[in-house]
Amino acid sequence: MVSSRSKIHLNGSLDQTPSGESGEPEKSMAEEHIDQCIDQCIGLLEEAYGEPLAGCVDPLDLLVATILSQNTTDVNSLRAFSRLRSAFPDYRDLLRASLEAVVHAIRVGGLAEIKAQRIREALGQIQARAGEMDLGFLREMEKEEARRFLTSLPGVGPKTAAVVMLFGFGFPTMPVDTHVYRLSRRLGLVPGDAGIEEAQRVLEGIVPQEKYLSLHLNLIRHGRRICRARSPLCDQCPLKEICLYRRDLAQSPSGQKD
Ligand code: SF4
Repeated sequence: MVSSRSKIHLNGSLDQTPSGESGEPEKSMAEEHIDQCIDQCIGLLEEAYGEPLAGCVDPLDLLVATILSQNTTDVNSLRAFSRLRSAFPDYRDLLRASLEAVVHAIRVGGLAEIKAQRIREALGQIQARAGEMDLGFLREMEKEEARRFLTSLPGVGPKTAAVVMLFGFGFPTMPVDTHVYRLSRRLGLVPGDAGIEEAQRVLEGIVPQEKYLSLHLNLIRHGRRICRARSPLCDQCPLKEICLYRRDLAQSPSGQKD
């Protein structure tokens, strides 16, 4: 437990400590609430799942794998990625191959024609920009410049760009996938009506940068195991004391959310 930290309670009350003594602008109650909620979320999830560490992943593989993961299951996207890499161990061969050959390799992942086209175009643009099949030039860029380049590629939206930036290069950015989006709204970390891009902006503003990777991966784990889209297992959830969704559920006469 994160017992050394002050707590927020399900009714929204706070164990407050005096603020403003350092000359910093005082935070509003809502900002204090969010800060403490984030802190507890990170701590409780790391207790439950451990603190994930960055691995050594090839940024091009990340880019291709993330495009392949769109609109399909993890199992099928991993199969598609594995078959693609078996068929084309060198991405330059993928550019030289016919579109049909690429489609054939990734068919198991669904939307194969669209994804094959996007992967070829994205890799082609990277090769044209870098003069080689390598994203290493992003290391020389500022964060927003890198994000602009990546999102200019076909099939690369804010989530895919953030995945490549965080896991491939250690840029401080917070990818928001379907699990992170759902859980961050249920927990009350971002407004319930926020879109995905706003959710990313809000999370990047409130999560300590050194915890982006840990919180991202642990929210995904938690979303798969406990906080599922349908019928979340709130009674088993270590976050239940700080979760707005569960608080609303407990206060609703029917015990059901709209
Ligand atoms: S208490 Fe329920 S809704 Fe809230 S994070 Fe846990 S499983 Fe999800």
